[in-house]
Amino acid sequence: MEKTPILEVKDLKTYFYLEGNKVAKAVDGVDFQIYPGETVALVGESGSGKSITSLSIMKLIDKPGKIEGGSILFSGTDLISLTEKQMTKIRGNDMAMIFQEPMTALNPVFTIGNQIMESLRKHQKISKKEAYIKAVELLKIVGFPRAEETIREYPHQLSGGMRQRAMIAIALSCNPKLLIADEPTTALDATIQAQILTLLDEMKEKFHMSILLITHDLGIVAEHADRVMVMYGGQIVESTSVERLFENPLHPYTRGLLESLPSIDREVERLGAIKGIVPPAFNFPKGCRFSDRCPYAMEECHQSNPKLLEIETNHQARCFLYKESV
Ligand code: SF4
Repeated sequence: MEKTPILEVKDLKTYFYLEGNKVAKAVDGVDFQIYPGETVALVGESGSGKSITSLSIMKLIDKPGKIEGGSILFSGTDLISLTEKQMTKIRGNDMAMIFQEPMTALNPVFTIGNQIMESLRKHQKISKKEAYIKAVELLKIVGFPRAEETIREYPHQLSGGMRQRAMIAIALSCNPKLLIADEPTTALDATIQAQILTLLDEMKEKFHMSILLITHDLGIVAEHADRVMVMYGGQIVESTSVERLFENPLHPYTRGLLESLPSIDREVERLGAIKGIVPPAFNFPKGCRFSDRCPYAMEECHQSNPKLLEIETNHQARCFLYKESV
């Protein structure tokens, strides 16, 4: 694997300024890297800050939210310093994003073909005819056997899974180095979900991309990611390879997530093993942000927030139960 990361996020802080002088620290000091050709999963419950992290990387944070600090180095360029015009170029050319519900990104009044061709022509100097040929080719690659017909169809004429495939074709039309996939299959049934995730794996190989996969589902992480970062309370609480995370989860939150996974040899009652809910980002508990839900909470956990430390080689956790390895 190449040593230079394609994306390097350092001490990223994205805050939301709410009524009553409340500040929601949705992303609060997040650091990570993604290397070429990797799929890195960002996992956590809803409200943990994972989607705000991905939107921050794309610089799609609107008021009352603001990126308050840190850097986002993409191929060595700090995205935070770029103008909106420069950022639009990056978003279209080198970085693309797919969402849980493709209808929010697809335009209902244009055909699928129009949308792919427009994206192609925005980023490449090609004729309409060339764009048509490429759009048909892309639709075939993402699994539309009758691509010449699909190209004339509107988003509402496609099923949920097919819309997600069309969205992937649009994302691929700019040949991105990084694809951010935010819960790309949550709205789909299990069979279609597996097909779309396999398609993403294939596209990663074919187009030499890296993928940042945002999900709440550790089952998906196990099957499709190389490395995983677990997020809670706007911070990364554990980060390691997928194998290591499943073999030896360190953080009590990760263990809770793993225990919540359905398993054939496990009692159904164990589902939902973590008590309580993710606290709102304007009201984290004092000390460790997981302290009000953690079965191992000690006195010091209520006093200060632990740092993310390297506990084993290539395995970091943010928890007072562990000491830094030397
Ligand atoms: Fe639990 Fe304390 Fe570790 Fe936080 S620091 S996860 S409260 S043991």
